[in-house]
Amino acid sequence: MNSSVEIPAIQTKFTNNNLSAQEIRVMRDKGTERPNSSPFLINEKENTSGKYYCKNCDTLLYESANMFDSGCGWPSFHTSSSAVDSTGVKNGEYIVGKSGKQGIKDNNIIQYPDTSLGMARTEICCLNCDSHLGHIFTGEGWEKLFGEGKGNRYCVNGISLNFEKN
Ligand SMILES: [Zn+2]
Repeated sequence: MNSSVEIPAIQTKFTNNNLSAQEIRVMRDKGTERPNSSPFLINEKENTSGKYYCKNCDTLLYESANMFDSGCGWPSFHTSSSAVDSTGVKNGEYIVGKSGKQGIKDNNIIQYPDTSLGMARTEICCLNCDSHLGHIFTGEGWEKLFGEGKGNRYCVNGISLNFEKN
């Protein structure tokens, strides 16, 4: 992340003018890509090593070391990529996102409570540009398979990400 450049919220202005209509529908309008459509699901099966960046603003969001094959149809991660940044806000503390809404800081991600569709969920967005990524699901028991600290499932639209192989 280039901290000297102030990136506006994706709802206001795209940083990347090359986003497709489908990408805009997911990233700005909080849509969901079709299940099992992401090319990154292969990476889960083949343990392809690399990093995942916000497609709008190139911020590092996830790493393959925290990716797993949940079988849910969308790229799945245990945690976000740990990141050094200039916000001065610690993970787990409140921070105001680029959209002006208050959320919780999670490395380069911001978590917002989401009660749309009549469910209590946690929405995840890019902290740098507020691009919609997906949701976090808890209490599914993944820690029994993967160990302590790996119980969460970050269910991410692959269309919101760029992948760079290590
Ligand atoms: Zn972004």
